[in-house]
Amino acid sequence: MNVVNDVTIAGAGAAASFLAMRALQLDLQPTILRVSLPAVVGIEIVPASAWRLLDALGLGDVLAGLGAGLGDGLTRRLPDGTIDVRDGRSLHVERLRLREALLREAERRGARICEIDRLPPLDPEVYAVDATGQRAAWSRPVVRQGREWADIFFADETVIPPGTSTLALLGREWAYLASDQTSATVGVVGRSASVSGLLDRKILRALELVDGAPFRHVGRRAAFVQWATKPIVGRRLAIGDAAVHHSPIGGRGLAFALGSAFAAAAVLATWRDDPPAASAARSYYESYVAAEAHRHVTFLRNEQPSLATSQELPEQVRWVRSSMEGAYVVKGRVTPGEVVTLANGEPARWLGHLDLIRLREIVMAERSTASIIAHLSEQGFCIADSQSTLSWALERGLIVPAERTRAEP
Ligand SMILES: Cc1cc2nc3c(=O)[nH]c(=O)nc-3n(C[C@H](O)[C@H](O)[C@H](O)COP(=O)(O)OP(=O)(O)OC[C@H]3O[C@@H](n4cnc5c(N)ncnc54)[C@H](O)[C@@H]3O)c2cc1C
Repeated sequence: MNVVNDVTIAGAGAAASFLAMRALQLDLQPTILRVSLPAVVGIEIVPASAWRLLDALGLGDVLAGLGAGLGDGLTRRLPDGTIDVRDGRSLHVERLRLREALLREAERRGARICEIDRLPPLDPEVYAVDATGQRAAWSRPVVRQGREWADIFFADETVIPPGTSTLALLGREWAYLASDQTSATVGVVGRSASVSGLLDRKILRALELVDGAPFRHVGRRAAFVQWATKPIVGRRLAIGDAAVHHSPIGGRGLAFALGSAFAAAAVLATWRDDPPAASAARSYYESYVAAEAHRHVTFLRNEQPSLATSQELPEQVRWVRSSMEGAYVVKGRVTPGEVVTLANGEPARWLGHLDLIRLREIVMAERSTASIIAHLSEQGFCIADSQSTLSWALERGLIVPAERTRAEP
């Protein structure tokens, strides 16, 4: 295998810039191939789950300059008219402004940007990353599921408070509303296109917008699920939407663009630094993408394993998941080793700085939530982090309340 150093990235969206910045952190030299293609304006919601990786890329200052809104929970209007609020902080930012800022930042840090008219065919000798979004230009074949499209409407003035996110489920279609500091977006998702190009009254009312709110139709985006059947072949990896394109209802597009960029960069760095681990790195990336597609399809079918809904932690817990041989990323390299399987089948080894194998040892030795938290505190985790770690482990089915323990099949 040739020594990896130069990496060619097709596409210039968020995933491409995230990958370029991560590659630079790992001393790889990225070149982004940019073709000027039309793109849809709109507010994007970046969930708090993505902030750790944004932070790892040191993007705080870049994001601070984008007029973002800070969201605090998602208001959902259900088909019967009832309303609930889902907790969760988020950053709301206009997508084209974000992409331009990310690309400029990647260039400033050392990525080469090549403006071209047309993407060349994939050269099998080159280490390449397909970041061409849902078009998956270098990553065919793809599997598609669903036929929904989203009509996007945009208001470039403040019509609702910054950081608003509202979802209205309306039977066969659904709509969302999101805002940053100066603008707002409505997406209407269904199988038929908006004929008039106007937001209809039913949608305005469901989203609690006034008649005549100044939204104009700005385009359509795919809202079906799609994934590349071969996200890694030879020296080519697919990331972001080119690997898995999500339904907008999942709110996972940007988080996956980030996560897959980190995972792909780790594979490239492993190929360069540790050739004997090359095939473990390949399997790691295949399972990483397959797990994301599976998780998302399961989520859409509403077949998620029953998630813990209470914020209250039980007094006693018990570890119920098994582990297996797999691979995980440490310091930007893929390492073969033991991983735990989450309830949705995804393998995992680290939650931030916490080794899940270590968490399993602590839970197996302690069981009492208070003493597990005390143990984690001794290892430098604050009480709030320890509590949210245990909530995360409950939600992912790693632990269950001790009173309701059932052995894993
Ligand atoms: C209106 C809208 C609202 C959204 N809201 C959210 C949200 O709230 N939260 C969220 O998480 N996600 C949201 N998403 C999804 C999110 O934008 C994507 O998941 C994310 O941008 C994926 O990044 P990407 O770089 O993989 O793809 P893209 O951002 O689509 O970038 C693909 C890049 O490849 C280029 N390209 C395509 N074809 C070719 C070709 N043949 N040759 C060369 N270059 C090519 C494109 O020009 C573009 O630069 C939204 C998307 C849209 C359109």
